[in-house]
Amino acid sequence: MQRLTLLLWVALLPIAGVEARKPKHAEPEPPAAVEETDSVDLEENDDFESLTEGMPVGVLSRLVGDTLFVSCGQDELPRFLVVMTDDGECQYRLMPAMLWGDTTGSHPADSLYHVWMNTRVNPYQMPVDSLKDSIPISLKGFVYPLKNLTHVTSGFGFRRYRFHYGTDVKVQVGDSLRASWDGQVRIVGWDPRGYGYYVLIRHDNGLETIYGHLSRPLVEENERIYAGEILGLGGNTGRSTGSHLHYEIRYLGNAIDPATIVDFDKGALRVPEDYLITKKGTFRHNEEIKQLKMAQYHKVRQGDTLSGIARRYHTSVRTLCKLNHIKETSILRLGQKIRVR
Ligand SMILES: [Zn+2]
Repeated sequence: MQRLTLLLWVALLPIAGVEARKPKHAEPEPPAAVEETDSVDLEENDDFESLTEGMPVGVLSRLVGDTLFVSCGQDELPRFLVVMTDDGECQYRLMPAMLWGDTTGSHPADSLYHVWMNTRVNPYQMPVDSLKDSIPISLKGFVYPLKNLTHVTSGFGFRRYRFHYGTDVKVQVGDSLRASWDGQVRIVGWDPRGYGYYVLIRHDNGLETIYGHLSRPLVEENERIYAGEILGLGGNTGRSTGSHLHYEIRYLGNAIDPATIVDFDKGALRVPEDYLITKKGTFRHNEEIKQLKMAQYHKVRQGDTLSGIARRYHTSVRTLCKLNHIKETSILRLGQKIRVR
C-alpha cells in the first residue's frame, strides 16, 4: 500500500478592495496572502473511499486515472491532480479553482460558480484571461443601493501605487443600503484593515456585489435576498475615514468598474438591461492590474531626486513621471512611495 499525502492547497487570496492611502479617506487593503499550507497525511490509502473521506455526500463523483471528479451542480469537475514526487509518493493537489466549499445548497448561479464559500471574497481563481470573450448578463431588476443620491467620493481604478476595486459613494452612518439584484448572501464579514463590516451577495444574474464599511450588517450568510431589500446600514468601519459605501461589482471574482454599469448621479443603470460583459472592454483595466502586481516602489529618502532615483533603477525620469502621474518639477516628499517599475 502506498502512503499518500493529501496536499491542501490554499490558493492566493485575491486582492480585494485595494485602495489608495489618502489623508482624508483611507481605504481597504488587500487581505494578507495565504499560500500553500497544511499537508494532511492520509493513512495508507490508495482507494477512492479513503481519498474522499470527509467530503460532503453528493459532491463526490469518481476517480478516473489521475483525477478525482467532483460533481457541482450539473457538471462534473476534477478536484485533485495527482503529482508524483521523487521518492515515488503520490501527492494529491487540490485544484485551485475547486476549493472546498459547501456546494450542497442549490442556487441559480451555481452552474457558473461551482463554489459556495462564506469566508473568501474571491475563491474562484478564474483570472480574466480564462474568461470567455463575451458574457451576456441580465441587469434586469436593478435597485440602486442608496435611497438618496449622494456624490461619488472615489472611483474605480489605479491610484498611485494601488488599485481601487470599487466605487465609493457618500453615505451617512445609519443609512439603509439595499441589494442591487436578487441573490443570496454569501459573506457577512468583518475585515478591520479593509472593508470593515461588509456584505457580499451572489446574484442570480451571475454578478456578485460587495458593500463595505457598514456600521451594521442586517442579513445573515446563506440567506436569500431580493433586489431592494435592506442588507445593512452605512458606516465608517474598517479602513475608512468618513462614512461611505464601498461598492463593488464582480464577475467570477473579477472586479468590474461599477460606473460602467451604474450611473451614480442618477442612481440607475447606465446601460441596457441586456448587458454584454466583454473581456477586452469590461476588463480593460486587467493589463494595468497585472503590471501593478509586478510593480516596484522606492521610498523617498533625504536627498533623493527623480533623476537620482531614475539612475538607481535604470529607468528614466520620464518613465517615473508617467508611472506616478507626476511632473518632472513635482516636489518629492520624504517617505513618499515612487513606483519605479
Ligand atoms: Zn472604496
